[in-house]
Amino acid sequence: MKILAIESSCDETAAAVVEDGGRILSNVVVSQVDIFAAYGGVIPEVAARSHLEAILPVIHKALDDARLTKDEIDAIAVTHTPGLLGSLLIGTLTARTLAILWKKPLYAVHHLKSHIYANWLLPAQGGMASVPQFPLLALVVSGGHTQIIYMPGHNQFEIIGTTRDDAVGECFDKVAKILGLPYPGGPSIAKMALQGDVKKYKLPHPQVDGLDFSFSGLKTAVLRAVQAECGLSITTPSYELKEYLSEQQKADFAASFQDTACDILMEKVKMALRGHQDVKSLVIAGGVSANAVLRQKAVESLLEASDGKIEVYFPELCFAGDNAAMVGAAAYFEVASGVKPTNPYTLSIAPRTAIG
Ligand code: AMP
Ligand code: MG
Repeated sequence: MKILAIESSCDETAAAVVEDGGRILSNVVVSQVDIFAAYGGVIPEVAARSHLEAILPVIHKALDDARLTKDEIDAIAVTHTPGLLGSLLIGTLTARTLAILWKKPLYAVHHLKSHIYANWLLPAQGGMASVPQFPLLALVVSGGHTQIIYMPGHNQFEIIGTTRDDAVGECFDKVAKILGLPYPGGPSIAKMALQGDVKKYKLPHPQVDGLDFSFSGLKTAVLRAVQAECGLSITTPSYELKEYLSEQQKADFAASFQDTACDILMEKVKMALRGHQDVKSLVIAGGVSANAVLRQKAVESLLEASDGKIEVYFPELCFAGDNAAMVGAAAYFEVASGVKPTNPYTLSIAPRTAIG
């Protein structure tokens, strides 16, 4: 089954053709990151207008790259929640229109499902890969979400832990701003941390019951530690702090923060594994899954917690961020699980909906 997938939930306009949930026939991503680097964050109205300009050329290129005509496509899939309202509108309106004109079944896919199913995509360079085994735990770590999800089988999701405030990706982005590092914050922190000492600053682990997370306290802890390090009062605005920090101090803060954030994530994953002894795989998904320290800590934690019996999966780096290939994979496994197509005339969008 060949699915033309479309993704436009935030600031990447993407289209891909994916066969049988894993084989990538084409994958086109146009990122707006260069536009938003100048502003230090996404401006929703600008993002929506950029999607409008890019979406049709991106879809054409995805079909061309796959060497397929519209008649050879079996279905269309599109992200319909969660995301920025205007951004979602562009993708879903385009997908609905094409589904009606081309008479194709339309599948509306939850964005976090797509991030999880990025782990089923076959290697972009070709070749075979093992796929995650059920039951599994998915750690979803993105700019808007931090969740631990138990999946007994395909397309079955039970959220067992979630953040009570900020998402971990948001925390990376905000700490990067405090340190004066460029947008997007996650990769900037990761790069800066390479020169830093993880033990230089001791940052607190939040005391949250059960499998839930809290990251707003960690962000404030970094803010207070930077103010203290620079001998400034707690009323000094965060945007002034970068002027007082040396490059080495920035690197040490980046490394200490990154290490603490990844440890907090893995502590909860290990707790979740203790409560779910049947789990066979751990799947890490979302933009923060690109983080090399998180990947390393996940492998080490799983070796320690399960003697290597539970395998860890991460998406290939090119599929950790937003893309449409993962939407095509998620849609395929929805179809395989018996999900019916959505009505293209009535499909609605939602800025925030739980996975399910
Ligand atoms: P998403 O919301 O899934 O599109 O992912 C975007 C989030 O991932 C943003 O908060 C980024 O800062 C974060 N991110 C991307 N790359 C990395 C990285 N290497 N380390 C940590 N966070 C990252
Ligand atoms: Mg995303």
